[in-house]
Amino acid sequence: MVDLRCHGCGQVHEGAKAVTLDDGTEVGSYSQRWREITEARWVLKTLPLKVNKRRPKTPQISRRDYIMGVQDRRGQLAADQLKRDILALWKATK
Ligand SMILES: [Zn+2]
Repeated sequence: MVDLRCHGCGQVHEGAKAVTLDDGTEVGSYSQRWREITEARWVLKTLPLKVNKRRPKTPQISRRDYIMGVQDRRGQLAADQLKRDILALWKATK
């Protein structure tokens, strides 16, 4: 049985469900691991490797900028985890 409790508050929220990671592991949709994975997917899909300042409607922070921000706010371990997750996702698309 997958643990559906919320990483933030410990409650089971309405709509919480089991979700399957790329490696086949099941986790809760409010778990820390799912939060990490969805963040990595978002970074890979949304943020550019390099910012294009001539196109202000495109994201004006790079993946690297974002990871540095995570490092400042949440620490080295969180930043390393995010880097690993982004790399794994990126490799899975090759
Ligand atoms: Zn919660």
